[in-house]
Amino acid sequence: MNETYTENQLQKLPFRNSKLDLEKRVEDLLKRLTLDEKFKLSAGRMMWHTKPIKRLGVKSFTMYDGPHGVRPDAMGEIKSTYFPSAICRASTWDSKLSYEFGKAIAEEVREVGAHMLLAPGINIQRTPMNGRTFEYQTEDPYLNKVLAVATVKGIQSQKIAACVKHFICNNQETNRLTVDSEVSERALQEIYYPAFKATVQEADAWSFMTCYNKVNGIYGSENNILLKEILMKNWGFRGFTVSDWNATAYTNTAKCVKAGLSLEMPTAKKYTKRNMRNAFNECKFTMDEIDENIRRLLRVMFLVGLFDDEATLPKGSRNTPEHQELARNIAEDGIVLLKNENDLLPLNVNKVNKLAVIGPNKNFRLVGEGILSGGGSSVNFPPYEITPLEGLQEKCKNRVEIMDDPSKADVTIVFAGLNHNHGMDAEGEDKKAFGLPLEQVKLIKATIQENPNTIVVLINGSPIDMDDWIDDVPSVVEAWYGGMEAGTAITNVLFGDVNPSGKLTMTFPGKLSDSPAHASKRSYPGNDNVTYEEGIFVGYRHFDTKMIDPLFPFGFGLSYTNFTYDNLNIDKEKITDDDKIKVSIDITNTGKIEGKEVVQLYVQDVNPSIERPIKELKGFKKIKLISGQKKTIVFELNKDDLAFYNPIENSWVVEEGTFKILIGSSSRDIRLEAEVEYLE
Ligand code: BGC
Repeated sequence: MNETYTENQLQKLPFRNSKLDLEKRVEDLLKRLTLDEKFKLSAGRMMWHTKPIKRLGVKSFTMYDGPHGVRPDAMGEIKSTYFPSAICRASTWDSKLSYEFGKAIAEEVREVGAHMLLAPGINIQRTPMNGRTFEYQTEDPYLNKVLAVATVKGIQSQKIAACVKHFICNNQETNRLTVDSEVSERALQEIYYPAFKATVQEADAWSFMTCYNKVNGIYGSENNILLKEILMKNWGFRGFTVSDWNATAYTNTAKCVKAGLSLEMPTAKKYTKRNMRNAFNECKFTMDEIDENIRRLLRVMFLVGLFDDEATLPKGSRNTPEHQELARNIAEDGIVLLKNENDLLPLNVNKVNKLAVIGPNKNFRLVGEGILSGGGSSVNFPPYEITPLEGLQEKCKNRVEIMDDPSKADVTIVFAGLNHNHGMDAEGEDKKAFGLPLEQVKLIKATIQENPNTIVVLINGSPIDMDDWIDDVPSVVEAWYGGMEAGTAITNVLFGDVNPSGKLTMTFPGKLSDSPAHASKRSYPGNDNVTYEEGIFVGYRHFDTKMIDPLFPFGFGLSYTNFTYDNLNIDKEKITDDDKIKVSIDITNTGKIEGKEVVQLYVQDVNPSIERPIKELKGFKKIKLISGQKKTIVFELNKDDLAFYNPIENSWVVEEGTFKILIGSSSRDIRLEAEVEYLE
């Protein structure tokens, strides 16, 4: 059993035969491991690695953060492409870009010799105050699902494991290590689970990271219901689970093993050899249980090619012009034009002579002085960064004078927003304030007095309060944290080289108390527990039902051109069980320039027996049209798109009756509607 092999002997063992069936290889290696070796494999070492089992030639499996670029070392010696933050990427509403991003970042992971990326982070954006809102995609489960699936597929196309995180209901940073997220089964099923589930069932995600918090009383890493029952049994997950870093702090060794936690990171705390042996000897978990946990980890080790000849694996690449161009494309397509009175934008390089560029974020850099900058674990270190000012300087060279006095300029751009310091858009704490820092509000107000042609460009990663100043400013651009190419992307949008096409993936509330999680202190931030009192009414589902006008609604974003929506057609007026409905619409670009539009399809149950949202996103398509061009786009819906989770029957149901199909340019700009009857 304990035999030590030479490399020659190892090569002849069945698990080293890459032609053999995956499961056979896994079983062959599993049966050769001693119990202590299984314990050894259950916990990490040195932050990012599993322990090698030299006797059997099992190398270290290496995993790195994170969602915006790979970071192999905390000191930033090793550079990698810094992609836009997840909220920016999601705002493109372009699943192809998510796929391309996943593929590119995985190429960088491969190039630095690692096997798994600790991403994507797909927790629902429940509150604008979450310090990690910028790292997540959206408030909507459908959009979250489509983008998450594309990202995971992109990553794993390179035989690099995606690690979908943080499972689940880690929707705030306040008390994140101990808080108990109390959430109803219906909200889990309709809002919080769908994207996680889809990454398993539609993208075969190879790893899941548990959350720090408790979910309905039990910590994520020892939550048998979440891991064994739901993830593994119900959804059919075949990969392995890894704890968030030190998320096992308040858990119990045997409970974690029994729940199906394969790997404790970053080092053994609960999964020490001694703890594991004691618990095993006391019969607190069985051999079958530890075997199953290790089997899952080994399976992924094989899937990423840990035992195979490197020449047979996809090639890695890092900091390539292609990756940098992709980073710029995502940033460009994710920028959301929020307001544009009198067509102040786009700027014309031949008409603007003097451009004032001011504001604290005009030279914004993602990576600051300290190694902890960049918002926490999602930081990485790019080979260069183009700041907004640098992007503008490049464009304006020899043509437009850039200055800092608004009173003397034709147009002024104020770069306002937040940054990745603690208490802003950063991990570990929630945002301290909903609004911009007071000095910025003062600056915007003073600037507009001096120069009516003022554009505010926001660099931030979550909805903010604009009440004090938005009415005075003609143009506002939400540029997010746009990654290493942000300055060029912003410049391209401001000067019209790129027509903005991003749309909000999270409602911007007028005031924080309008936001669903902010009804009481119990619902946010809570204390020992936080009660998700709003249930399924997260984001626009809440604003619609309560008839609250948001500052900017979900799905909103302006363009420099206009689109008209005509000829909504549905191919059936009545459907039953297996029918599919085809919905087609003509979209025409009626403006003067090329542009992209995100066409959104929402469904409304007209007369539900229990309360349902006024509308729910069930489809979207991003299309590009040149001036005057018309395209017909087609959506396909089926019964599942009409369903809700019935908490009494504990199952998804579709009720007989009428459903409205709403087609719009945002959740509050529905252009066309039709009805369909569902018959059982
Ligand atoms: C974060 C994870 C991250 C891990 C490793 C944790 O604090 O919550 O998202 O992947 O650290 O850095």
